[in-house]
Amino acid sequence: MSVARLRAVGARRISTSASRNALGSAARPLAEKISSEWRGTSMTGGTTKNFIGGEFVESKATEWIDVVDPSTQTLLSKVPQTTSSEFDQAVDAASQAFKTWSKTSVLTRQRFVLELQHLLRQNSEAIANSIVLEQGKTLADAHGDLLRGLQVVENAASITTTLMGEKIEVSKDMDTEVRRVPLGVCASIAPFNFPAMIPLWTIPMATVTGNTLILKPSERDPGAAMMIAELCQRAGLPPGVVNVVHGQVPTVNAICDHPAIKAISFVGGDKAGKHIYERGTQHGKRVQSNMGAKNHAVLMPDANKNLALNSIIGAAFGAAGQRCMAISVVILVGEAQSWLPELVERARKLKVSGGFEKDTDIGPLISPAAKERVTRLISSATEEGGSLHLDGRGIQVANYPDGNFVGPTIIEANTSMTCYKEEIFGPALVVLRAETLDDALDTINANRYGNGTAIFTQSGATARKFETEVEVGQIGINVPIPVPLPMFAWSGNKASFLGDIGFYGKSAINFYTQNKTTTSLWRAQDALATRASVNMPTHH
Ligand code: NAD
Repeated sequence: MSVARLRAVGARRISTSASRNALGSAARPLAEKISSEWRGTSMTGGTTKNFIGGEFVESKATEWIDVVDPSTQTLLSKVPQTTSSEFDQAVDAASQAFKTWSKTSVLTRQRFVLELQHLLRQNSEAIANSIVLEQGKTLADAHGDLLRGLQVVENAASITTTLMGEKIEVSKDMDTEVRRVPLGVCASIAPFNFPAMIPLWTIPMATVTGNTLILKPSERDPGAAMMIAELCQRAGLPPGVVNVVHGQVPTVNAICDHPAIKAISFVGGDKAGKHIYERGTQHGKRVQSNMGAKNHAVLMPDANKNLALNSIIGAAFGAAGQRCMAISVVILVGEAQSWLPELVERARKLKVSGGFEKDTDIGPLISPAAKERVTRLISSATEEGGSLHLDGRGIQVANYPDGNFVGPTIIEANTSMTCYKEEIFGPALVVLRAETLDDALDTINANRYGNGTAIFTQSGATARKFETEVEVGQIGINVPIPVPLPMFAWSGNKASFLGDIGFYGKSAINFYTQNKTTTSLWRAQDALATRASVNMPTHH
């Protein structure tokens, strides 16, 4: 990495003086416990290991990235920029493991998943604590992060049914059979905002279908992934089936380029997502890329006001707005425009503090750079003629003077303003006004993204029109964050997704397997025939 590039990356890293900060009294013993009990991660200033061929190995990297508590700027760990030879070792381990893992019976793989789900539940407190420390979200939300991943693990246990092939007699005594076979070594590249859920979208589905995996967690909060890797090992996964390597762009590019890697699952921002999709597909890989979003909620005047306002606030400000399915725009239709003051008052009451503090609603943003970016986008709204009904810039949080906090912010804007056009990824809700449902639909359908949307109404007819005409892939009716559970599959669309096959559930079976067909003829009369037939087979 060039010096200039390192400096650019360093902009969102901790400074040396800030690293002398200390964790709060609630956080410190939890950090110490994790550091002493888990082999791959540190929360007390040590290093994060790579996990290669079943071993937690200290990298020989010369470049390291700081992992920092976003509430206090305390240095928790250092993540290596994995060297190319370490990366190759991980892919070699995964290639070797594929030879045997792909031949294990589906029952063996199912048992691994069942054991993993048990261990994840048993260790949920430790994983959630690591998420609060590294990512900053509240403890309850960290448990939610893990739970949404656990649901994918639980769904993967139905593999003995979902992996079933097809077979039919296509002609007399002739059968065609379709088998779903694994691809080989797959890779998963994760974002910072769901450090447990996203690795758990891919680890169970890739492995239960017989593949092996290279996981690259976010360099900003790799701890949960390391703990999950350790639990995979404890659950009986053979060495090399799951490997974890760390780093930034060089590691991602190595994944895109390595000929042994057959498929890449990416979740993160637009820039990286497009790059990985293009570079990965150019190398002949199957790529699924979940990217950014601008999710609109439509508030109709016939809505259940209390449910709607609380739902919108929860979805806009939960996780400090750092969810790809956060509601980031609300369209107030007709008389619902008069509810704006109440929306503002309810948002004003949200408590901003550290993730371990009781009753915290909004934790810090992931980095000082993220705080700077969110603050800049809020400021752009006032410069471009928008109005701030609630301004969370410059908030002071007791006991956390150094945290990356932004308070709840509500901006009235129009669709030409920067704060509407860009994904803010912070606790800032943009408000638009519309006279009719048709106007609201036009706005949503003109937006380039298609991850999620929601409508609040008590009219079945209005809801029906909305779900039929809106072009977004995941729709909520009186449900603010309509993420399908894993018996379905992720279905974000438009500029929020590149690829053909979505994440987890039924889609994951398709993504992680390819079809193999065998047509066989076992004709009883062949035992007796004395003359070959030269006619074209017509399958009658
Ligand atoms: P990010 O794109 O910065 O990072 C994601 C991953 O890509 C990380 O592992 C990172 O190391 C790598 N990366 C970053 N920049 C890269 C580059 N230039 N080239 C190659 N690799 C690069 O995303 P983030 O900030 O960690 O996560 C937030 C974003 O993720 C938001 O845009 C959010 O909407 C999106 N997201 C989408 C979904 C979804 O399912 N659609 C889910 C979660 C998050």
